[in-house]
Amino acid sequence: MSLAQEIDKRRTFGIISHPDAGKTTLTEKLLLFGGAIQKAGAVKSNKIDMHARSDWMDIEKQRGISVATSVMAFEYEGKRINLLDTPGHQDFAEDTYRTLTAVDSVIMVIDCVKGVEIQTEKLMEVCRMRKTPVISFINKLDREGQDPYDLLDEIEGKLGINVHPLSWPIGMGKSFQGVYSLYDKSLRLFKAKQQQLHEEATKLEDLDDPRLEEFIGEAHAAQLREDAEMLLDLYGPLDVDAYLNGDVAPVFFGSAVNNFGVKELLDAFLQISPRPIARMMDEREVLPDHKAFTGFVFKIHANMDPKHRNRIAFLRICSGKFERGSNYYHTRQDKKFRISQATAFMAQDKETIDEAYPGDIIGLYDTGNFKIGDTLTDGENGVYRGIPSFSPEIFREVINKDAMKTKQLEKGLTQLMDEGVAQLFNFELGSRKAVGVVGQLQFEVIQHRLKHEYGATVEFVGMQLYKACWISSQDEKKLDEFIRSKQRHIAKDKDGKLVFMAESKAWLQMVQDNFPEIEFHFTSEF
Ligand code: GDP
Repeated sequence: MSLAQEIDKRRTFGIISHPDAGKTTLTEKLLLFGGAIQKAGAVKSNKIDMHARSDWMDIEKQRGISVATSVMAFEYEGKRINLLDTPGHQDFAEDTYRTLTAVDSVIMVIDCVKGVEIQTEKLMEVCRMRKTPVISFINKLDREGQDPYDLLDEIEGKLGINVHPLSWPIGMGKSFQGVYSLYDKSLRLFKAKQQQLHEEATKLEDLDDPRLEEFIGEAHAAQLREDAEMLLDLYGPLDVDAYLNGDVAPVFFGSAVNNFGVKELLDAFLQISPRPIARMMDEREVLPDHKAFTGFVFKIHANMDPKHRNRIAFLRICSGKFERGSNYYHTRQDKKFRISQATAFMAQDKETIDEAYPGDIIGLYDTGNFKIGDTLTDGENGVYRGIPSFSPEIFREVINKDAMKTKQLEKGLTQLMDEGVAQLFNFELGSRKAVGVVGQLQFEVIQHRLKHEYGATVEFVGMQLYKACWISSQDEKKLDEFIRSKQRHIAKDKDGKLVFMAESKAWLQMVQDNFPEIEFHFTSEF
């Protein structure tokens, strides 16, 4: 197959949801269709059970599960589908944000009972920022949920994206009859616990077909006719370009656990979702069919075995062909590496691969050479953009409790930060170090790992900080002035970028008003 054909074949996407909306269940059904797994129950939830945990190792074990399922590739209808799982737990939100930089589109699962939940809002913000195409799956129609029109309104209102229903539910909960496909005008009748993977939908020439009453009863038939007329009027045909631009989200209704509405979703996904997209390397756009190999690291997973400090770096291929055994250029280190070990993630198994193509995710064994955001090429220079750090939400000062182990502490902190476990900010004054995280849990993780992997003992002390703001200005002099006047609050991030550490929201607002020439950014890329 030619490079162009390989690219055409690939679809790389992530599933996002608030915990419990049905992400794991939907993933499993998609894998069943792909023949990647044989029976239900094979996909482990990556949920972190906060109540059941007794210590940190437990969490790590639970995280181990999420690693095993973090990339799942399968073939379906001639396409190679790379599905990236995202941790739903909010303490690992950064991980999810970064995973979203490696996908070309997203399927968002929403619980029809609970509607749009907070984690979905946050994740959607990242998708909006990146203009990632989103398809929405409204799940659990077998339960008494909210009115479908209200759900659509809520998605538009809370998620800031226009919707376009492609299927429509008939009844809900106990009276749920099935869904009507607005784009291929077929009717699919609901059966609970569908064992068979797929039954043909009933094609209706139009909704005046008298069989409709027979299938779903008079009342539902009348309602559906009314709904369908209104929806077709309101939405018309789907504007696929608007979807690809991230302006419109097609919506499907179904019930993942009953394997209902999943095939429609998958089929539509294959029809409209983008093939691997172009990405920005510095100031230039690299197309997937650019002949030379390029890719970037978006996730690092460390030591399943603490005795050997081996890690797996997850690399998204952006262009060209990857060949195992070749030498590739690590642009940050300005060094060539021979990549002799690479794995693909086929559903549940890892297997060694010899070649891979744009859209694919491969795992590289790493002994500490990679950090998140690193770019590998065939020799050309440049760095893929789009893996920003987001301002953390909780900050603590790191206190070294064992002066004899200062070197180990430095090394440990650097490596953990390279993995993206947390963000480190070095204050300009004194040698204070602040660690910023999204969720409390990370402090436990860091403390434990520093101790057990590096022999360093630290304590974390609370800090009164609201946000880390990356700063810039058109006016160098003003920036210098600002830094001098706010010296106590200036720090540098891992790349040496300047950061203003704001103590409170009100104070930040005041500083912003007083220094209009300074730009304050909440992510490291601007
Ligand atoms: P995740 O946290 O988003 O991965 O959610 P899960 O896939 O683990 O699902 C959470 C719960 O919702 C589980 O108990 C599922 O069995 C249940 N669930 C998933 N899909 C459906 C559905 O269509 N209907 C109903 N009633 N329950 C569902």
